[in-house]
Amino acid sequence: MVVTAETKPIRLYTPAKGIAKDAYGRTMSYLRISLTDRCNFRCVYCMPEMGMKFQPRDEILTDEELIRVVGAFAGLGFTKFRLTGGEPTIRPHLVDIVGAIKSFPGVEEVTMTTNALLLGRMADGLADAGLDRINVSLDTLNPERFKAMTRGGRFDMVWDGILAAERAGITPIKINTVVVRGQNEHEVAELARLTIDRPWQMRFLEIMPMEGVGMVYDEGLVTSDETQARLEYEFGPLENVASPPGDPARVWRIPGAAGTIGFISPISEPFCSTCNRVRLSADGKLRLCLLRADEVDLRDIVRSGGSEADLTGRIRSAIWRKPWGHGIAEGDFNIGRGMSQIGG
Ligand code: SAM
Repeated sequence: MVVTAETKPIRLYTPAKGIAKDAYGRTMSYLRISLTDRCNFRCVYCMPEMGMKFQPRDEILTDEELIRVVGAFAGLGFTKFRLTGGEPTIRPHLVDIVGAIKSFPGVEEVTMTTNALLLGRMADGLADAGLDRINVSLDTLNPERFKAMTRGGRFDMVWDGILAAERAGITPIKINTVVVRGQNEHEVAELARLTIDRPWQMRFLEIMPMEGVGMVYDEGLVTSDETQARLEYEFGPLENVASPPGDPARVWRIPGAAGTIGFISPISEPFCSTCNRVRLSADGKLRLCLLRADEVDLRDIVRSGGSEADLTGRIRSAIWRKPWGHGIAEGDFNIGRGMSQIGG
């Protein structure tokens, strides 16, 4: 056989030890874990109104399997873990899961992204288990609009949940608002006003074109520049605030305010070059980039009696092949799963 560039086998390099790095030199230290693909809301930009298919329960990692996989990431030098979903607060034994993750050596921070509907009665237990911080999704302060955007959500319960988390010391509170044209873009100043007296961070997110909600993206994208212009029209020039390394948000402050304002701009200003995160889906797939379909199965190793070395080896080699970044600007919308299935 004539060996050409096409036929010659390529020896793929995979680092055998050390902390988890990709081929571009980025160190991965942050795992976002989807605890379930189910949710008690149906936000318009996240899930289609009809036809959502949820995974059978036996496909979801059990608590023991999940903790084992998380332990492997901790062993690879991951220090930060975020619980998300779907809605993490509907996962049974959430408090125990938080405590177990927090107990691994080297784990610095366990956080959660939640809609806060159930937080009123869970906040104290989560704080006791060691939950460090929460991000709450809140797109409007208007109860009727809230009900429409979440397709049925109760604003009063969510607000109580946020206050319960603050009382329990799960702080600083960060609020995530996806800005959607025709729905809540006129309300951004009112939301930002919350930071004047509260030490919260209001984070305005550009909508992303996730599976099942492409139409909402096409019609609804509001860039961070547009949102910032609206805020500056209302409050005058915002003051720039330094943000920690790896934080996707560009952070600003209304002069004199107690809290801050973050802009997360995956579409107009991608932050792939500083990406330090990978994701674990509820069914045990390691997702290398939120907006690309590349996934590697970890559940089969756990369920087929694989060793710790097998598990860490697969994680390490998958991370080495993490894609550089998303391809939205080039029209690559092959994302494969909805946000609630990946863990936003
Ligand atoms: N249920 C939890 C919640 O509501 O926060 C956690 C899961 S939710 C999928 C995580 C985050 O993804 C939320 O802040 C939500 O606003 C965001 N999100 C969902 N779909 C999105 C989209 N199409 N574009 C941008 N952000 C999105």
